[in-house]
Amino acid sequence: MGIDPRSTKLRVGIFGAEPWTEEMREQIESLLGIKAMNIYGLSEIMGPGVAFDCEARNGLHINEDHFVPEIIDPQTLEVLPYGQEGELVFTCITKEALPLIRYRTRDLTHLDNTPCSCGRSLVRMGRINGRSDDMLIIRGVNLFPSQVESVILKVAEVAPHYVLIVDRINNLDTVEVWVEAKEGLISDSIKSIEKVEKRITNDLVSLTGLHIKVKIVEPKTIERSEGKAKRIIDKRKK
Ligand SMILES: [Zn+2]
Repeated sequence: MGIDPRSTKLRVGIFGAEPWTEEMREQIESLLGIKAMNIYGLSEIMGPGVAFDCEARNGLHINEDHFVPEIIDPQTLEVLPYGQEGELVFTCITKEALPLIRYRTRDLTHLDNTPCSCGRSLVRMGRINGRSDDMLIIRGVNLFPSQVESVILKVAEVAPHYVLIVDRINNLDTVEVWVEAKEGLISDSIKSIEKVEKRITNDLVSLTGLHIKVKIVEPKTIERSEGKAKRIIDKRKK
């Protein structure tokens, strides 16, 4: 609309509803000139407001006067100690009519009970690193869409729109990432596109240990969703 976002009175944005990375926070803050705060909640419990960033932005304080959080191993269901990554589980202690007891959120994170510089004593949860039902197991290696996102957000030539296509060819799992070019890149030579693809492939190998084929597609060709983004097409289930 031709408005410079920095000329508006907007100073703070509260973002939630789907997992986002620190890299996404940096992009939002630098493009909009605002402070981007993280909020967590789930509609089964109350919607947004179960946990929120404080000014230290070192984890989200959970409102423990209403919710008892636990982290469990999603396979064995054992409760895990503070600091260990697993599935977040909540018990509501003030909710009426539809209380939830040890409700499995499917969200993967950890709890941090070390003192926070803001002075609040409520336990903090880390960022959501994926969902236990979102985790792909590729040739025995765990892979989350959030890992792919953190890599592509560091690459200036591509837009933050991507999809992972998983298949099984000759009994071997394969993953391909399709990521949209930013306007301008696609008009460049094939060589420069291949160079960017190679860079993303190498970054993904060093982060995940998996060789993931990267394909850069034209701007605005990956389907946009209202609500939660669809990041995975798993053809193995057919
Ligand atoms: Zn704090």
